[in-house]
Amino acid sequence: MGVIVQKFGGTSVGTTERIMRVADRIISYRQQGHDMVIVVSAMGKSTDVLINMAKEISAQPSARELDMLVTTGEQVSIAMLAMALQQKGCDAVSLTGWQAGITTESVHGKARIEKIGNDRIRNHLAQGRVVIVAGFQGISAEGEITTLGRGGSDTTAVALAASLGADKCEIFTDVSGVFTADPRVVKSAQKLNSISYDEMLELANLGAGVLHPRSVEVAKKFGVRLVVRSSFTDEEGTYVEEAANMETGRVVSGVAHDEDVAKITVAGMAAKVGTLSRLFNTLADAKVNVDIIIQSSYESDETNISFSVSSDELPKALETLAANKEQLGYREILHVKDLAKVSIVGAGMISNPGVAAQMFRQLADVGIPIKMVSTSDIKVSCVVPEEYTELAVRTLHTAFGLDVEETAVVHGL
Ligand code: ADP
Ligand code: ASP
Ligand code: MG
Repeated sequence: MGVIVQKFGGTSVGTTERIMRVADRIISYRQQGHDMVIVVSAMGKSTDVLINMAKEISAQPSARELDMLVTTGEQVSIAMLAMALQQKGCDAVSLTGWQAGITTESVHGKARIEKIGNDRIRNHLAQGRVVIVAGFQGISAEGEITTLGRGGSDTTAVALAASLGADKCEIFTDVSGVFTADPRVVKSAQKLNSISYDEMLELANLGAGVLHPRSVEVAKKFGVRLVVRSSFTDEEGTYVEEAANMETGRVVSGVAHDEDVAKITVAGMAAKVGTLSRLFNTLADAKVNVDIIIQSSYESDETNISFSVSSDELPKALETLAANKEQLGYREILHVKDLAKVSIVGAGMISNPGVAAQMFRQLADVGIPIKMVSTSDIKVSCVVPEEYTELAVRTLHTAFGLDVEETAVVHGL
């Protein structure tokens, strides 16, 4: 039988008792003859605890040392799970990212996996062991420990599944699948039986934290069969696959939100060829990720340019603009914090005009001001003041026919 990769998130391995339950699940697969590769996250909220500890020492700790610190979280859970399996009579071995051969770019905090040399994993599998790999971590060509960004254990699992040619990659989490909106915010959200890679990638990029965006990208690229399901029940989960959801005929498949949005306006730049290029190249050189861009060009020689960034990149963006004032030649910089981006996603939008207009009307009807808009073939995003996030998500969820009667079950810590 082939290899199955399973990933268990923080809540699923949050206590020793839950680790024992995860071990039971793995053993039942093992007994069916599957070769098992398991990826785990740090226990419960321990990554947050470690980051907060670092922040007590320094507001901006060194990225290298932060990676060194947070990767210890996964090292605890892999060892605990290996012990649980061994205790139950199942041969198992834990491996750190580098022991598992996961090589990444030389970037701290948000590295991409470059390659996986999986000989060591294959040798252990050949000897009948369950292999447990630390999620979220890797090693750079220089031998430095790196991390893949928050939530990155999903990506470790999918990348391992791709590299091992696994039959499937199951992501076990604290909800029973991918829902039409975050079930913690919208109680009437419904579980999707399947969703396409493209829709899932949009949802993940737009704030649906259930999957790390990069994991969906890798799954699509290598055709990994990806399933999101509950680690607390045996319910069927959500299949992420090539072309899904055709059966529903729905225009919108889901609503996502992201509460970490800030807007910057660069006022009074010269309205001439090359202005946008200068501004955004300066920001790109400083590694600032810009999202939505709006230029208001009047019949004059001045232009105002607004763009959004994630809240944690706001200080870096403002510093970069201030440091380059003369070269960029603007009059002033304005910024607004505490914004949120609310998005509707659905492959059905391509053939249905007027979806954006309907979204604007629904938000207007409940008095929500729209600060910025961005669209693609399969999504429309509106930036709104943060205090309206929940109202906006619920309003759109109802308006686009996504509500169900039963309420979603969410497992907390
Ligand atoms: P894990 O620790 O298992 O990786 P995460 O907290 O990263 O778990 O992801 C699961 C959470 O994602 C859920 O508890 C839920 O609140 C959130 N979430 C956001 N959007 C969605 C969605 N559309 N469907 C399901 N869960 C979602
Ligand atoms: N433990 C890491 C985090 O909390 C990685 C993960 O959970 O996927 O972000
Ligand atoms: Mg996660």
